[in-house]
Amino acid sequence: MIILLNLDAGPSERAAVRAALQRQGLAIEESRLGERTAFWVEGSEVPAESLARLPGVERVVPVGSRSPLADATRVSGGRPVSVGSATFGGGQVGVIAGPCTVEDAGVLRDVARFVARAGAAALRGGVFKSRTSPHNYQGGGSSALRDLHAAAREVGLPCFTELTDPRQVAEVADWADGLQIGARQMQNFPLLIEAARTGKPVLLKRHMSADVEEWLLAVEYMLKAGNEKIILCERGLRSAERHVRYLLDIGVVPWLKQRVGLPVIVDPSHSAGDWSLVVPLARAAVAAGADGLIVEVHHRPETTRCDAQQALPFNDFARLMQDVRALAALDGRVVTGSPAREPPPLQAAAGA
Ligand code: PEP
Ligand code: MN
Repeated sequence: MIILLNLDAGPSERAAVRAALQRQGLAIEESRLGERTAFWVEGSEVPAESLARLPGVERVVPVGSRSPLADATRVSGGRPVSVGSATFGGGQVGVIAGPCTVEDAGVLRDVARFVARAGAAALRGGVFKSRTSPHNYQGGGSSALRDLHAAAREVGLPCFTELTDPRQVAEVADWADGLQIGARQMQNFPLLIEAARTGKPVLLKRHMSADVEEWLLAVEYMLKAGNEKIILCERGLRSAERHVRYLLDIGVVPWLKQRVGLPVIVDPSHSAGDWSLVVPLARAAVAAGADGLIVEVHHRPETTRCDAQQALPFNDFARLMQDVRALAALDGRVVTGSPAREPPPLQAAAGA
């Protein structure tokens, strides 16, 4: 059982709850859950209903569920997660956009300027890549990380990048605004804990073969480490199908939003594996209630070393942003990002 206190519970309420638990002879352990205090209580004879009535107690969460901390996030009605100027959830839809990998600093700046003007909320770019084959490009590392930071700052956006190893956490946390845990790292538990401990927002992708419970248990590791700034990202599942790279689980978006108070976003790029399918999948995600998207965008995919086939061209991204605004407005939501910016001029088609 977890006794979760209100955000504004002060030291005297904490002490009173602790004393009440001790009077019941219960074994307790006090810890932090984000900015709140939580008492972990052992035993089967816990008088949950009376404890829920103590001043300062927000909720008594049964640990019968395998992910009690994720359950507890629902208490506050799904608080949004902010990353710099970008907000995900709470009626705001954020679009993270940029190249798969940071390669050339000049090209990255072009992409950053375009996606920012089109209304993206944040810039993405991989520098420590998690590649299936050791023979494939592994990313530009520290210098690419600095290029990502510089390009994002130049256009006034926060940036996200993936980390693959706990040893990268300190450096990435210095330069990135949001930490991305990739699908292949979803059960890298030391990485989850170290990333969470930075206190920075963490975007946690679902492993391509993970069921929702395994995904939520990965969330549980980060909540237990004291970080509630978690954005969940569905990016497609391994399936028998070959027409798409991974099968996108759109249904998990409303399912999670009914049960967990964390923002849920969708990656249509890695699920599609083909840029011509990215826009329809992205639209479906926003229509299903996703709090945002993470989309790979590149104007010269023929020059890239990773995921060229799924990179969305500039014009398609600008049109997608218009669609996202229209779809979000259907249920009274707004797109977080840069409404004041002029929409970018569409690029002339090659040879035109
Ligand atoms: C990525 O975002 O570049 C990436 C590698 O995604 P995933 O972890 O979903 O495969
Ligand atoms: Mn990629």
